[in-house]
Amino acid sequence: MIIDREPEQSAHARMGGRPLLLIVDDQPSNIQVLFSIFKDDYDVCMALSGEATFTFLEQRLPDLILLDVVMPEVSGFDVCRRLKGSERTADIPVIFVTANSDPEEEARGLVAGAVDFIVKPFHATVVKARVNTQLTVKRQADQLRAMAMVDGLTGVANRRRFDAVLEIEWRRAAREGGELAVIMIDVDFFKRYNDRFGHLEGDNCLRQVAGALQQRLTRSPDLLARYGGEEFVCVLPATGLNGALILSNELEQRVRALGLPHPDSEAAAVVTVSIGAAAGRPSEGGSAAALLANADTQLYCAKQNGRARVCGQNFSAQGQHGDPVDAAAN
Ligand SMILES: [Mg+2]
Repeated sequence: MIIDREPEQSAHARMGGRPLLLIVDDQPSNIQVLFSIFKDDYDVCMALSGEATFTFLEQRLPDLILLDVVMPEVSGFDVCRRLKGSERTADIPVIFVTANSDPEEEARGLVAGAVDFIVKPFHATVVKARVNTQLTVKRQADQLRAMAMVDGLTGVANRRRFDAVLEIEWRRAAREGGELAVIMIDVDFFKRYNDRFGHLEGDNCLRQVAGALQQRLTRSPDLLARYGGEEFVCVLPATGLNGALILSNELEQRVRALGLPHPDSEAAAVVTVSIGAAAGRPSEGGSAAALLANADTQLYCAKQNGRARVCGQNFSAQGQHGDPVDAAAN
């Protein structure tokens, strides 16, 4: 599955704050009733039509939508189908609220993707309980989705997230004509570190290296991920080779500055990393996979040249790469 977006969370999921409820109904009096039920426990917003709902969703993502079925122009069913058809909004639970108690209507609502169907007149306590249940389910699903994107050992993004983000950023840069850089980072002689100190210390080393790398990556679109084993990788949007090399050298120095003793390393007395960087303009062709392969080649080059250093290269879709740069020599 290709995820064509950064995982986007509501305020509730992001900050553990109050859930955000969106009430959609063409009758303000109906909205008032629901608002008074929920205003003490949740942040409540409202929309008076299907179109207003989509406008709202461009700005904010609620944790749950209470949706009227019968509305002029865009019906509640149509709103629900459209929400479920868009990856950005598909995970928002929808509960239909209607005066029509026809089972066929209820079935239509569930087929359209709703999680529940509430028939008016309703009891406030029942509506509250049903909304609470769905919010709990949503919160758990959000947590699972977030965990599925994080590396359990180091807490940075995992490879699945990296693959998704690299694709997104490649396509974005291809559309906008901007640059994109990828850097690959490998801990030098890590097997020897494990052999000498044991796997628990090896894990601790990887956590510290990840922490040192992450501390430097403060620009919001930049992503650090654990690629596997002792390998890390960064996606750097709007970054050319120069910027990637400057950053790579800083990352190399930061890991070295941790001062983790590594007596069996041939590169230094402490834990070090080798880094390969590649940068290019996706609008000129090629693929995200080819850019990544370029960074991997540069990592190999850094290792061949003695490790604990940075190598980089401009990526070209035609396969005519620029001159490799041994940045450690600079
Ligand atoms: Mg209505």
